[in-house]
Amino acid sequence: MRYIDEFRDGALARRLAAAIAREASPARTYHLMEFCGGHTHALSRYGLKDLLPANVQMIHGPGCPVCVLPIGRIDSAIALAARPGLILTTYADTMRVPASKGLSLLKAKARGADIRMVYSSADALRIARENPGREVVFFAIGFETTTPPTAVAITEASAGQLSNFSVFCNHVLTPAAIANILESPEVRELGTVPLDGFIGPAHVSTVIGSQPYEYFAEEYQRPVVIAGFEPLDVMQAILMLIRQLNEGRAEVENEFTRAVTREGNAKAKSLVAEVFELRRSFEWRGLGEVPYSALCIKEKYRAFDAEARYGLEYCAVADNKACECGAILRGVKKPTDCKVFGTVCTPENPIGSCMVSSEGACAAHYTYGRFKDVPVVARVAA
Ligand code: SF4
Repeated sequence: MRYIDEFRDGALARRLAAAIAREASPARTYHLMEFCGGHTHALSRYGLKDLLPANVQMIHGPGCPVCVLPIGRIDSAIALAARPGLILTTYADTMRVPASKGLSLLKAKARGADIRMVYSSADALRIARENPGREVVFFAIGFETTTPPTAVAITEASAGQLSNFSVFCNHVLTPAAIANILESPEVRELGTVPLDGFIGPAHVSTVIGSQPYEYFAEEYQRPVVIAGFEPLDVMQAILMLIRQLNEGRAEVENEFTRAVTREGNAKAKSLVAEVFELRRSFEWRGLGEVPYSALCIKEKYRAFDAEARYGLEYCAVADNKACECGAILRGVKKPTDCKVFGTVCTPENPIGSCMVSSEGACAAHYTYGRFKDVPVVARVAA
């Protein structure tokens, strides 16, 4: 398939792997964080880590939209769905994220709540138009990639005076999360998460462009290479990062030039700016409260803000004690460090959010690579 096969060529991947092995200095270790779950998925699915020398280590980042959603937000969505007559709509992965009391949106639906999976915010709008006598809420999650379509839904609802539609906004921001990681004690003081450079997000960067990462490269002296989600994109980005580190450079480079520009998508950004503004603080699973790391709906569109309409108050809830998702999302631990990985916690029965979406580190590792780090005895048992 054109535009896909070219980026999955095994011979080229081996050539890139040889270049990485040749150029990576044996005198040091390269600790590279792939921020995005899409890159985590590609690394696991295509076995890219097996192509890398031992001194090039990949660290999973928090860029998986459902993984970073804290339990309290899912609980609020379930409480909304329990209102008589209300229809809650959301993306598929969100349905399976564990909430309090052993619940999830999927389980709440099984108990009778009218919760519907949608492919886009436009589907949620359609459901609102088709059900004028019922309140319809779109439970909106995701990074900068899914924010513009939510903005479109709100502006369309406003233009069409669709009074039974609102949005429970949980959109989060990539640059704030990267800053939080770089400022964390594990990176700055304790040194438990050595971080030499970042593979920058693919889809997010098509919207925000490469310019927002320039601050991290300059201020924290960490190179960033924006990369697509295909295996050759990731291998090329790793090579570009190694070259920067070898040359003592800390710049933003763009491997994903077929989709990303420095400025990003001006139309999408202006739509987002029209509808949303920064939240003072937002709780992320794993990162805790992160200032100015998420969006809320502007006063002008308050009529479509589910938090205002239904008086939702956020209530923080601790993660399951057995779950290491928080540490995994901060890059401190790996999926196999979790005692319940692959036994109690599986994609069919996720205990934590990282096992839900294919972009989650635990789900990717379970599906494509779990046996590499698991002792032989455990392999037989699995
Ligand atoms: S294996 Fe399950 S419980 Fe453990 S960290 Fe991953 S998602 Fe959380």
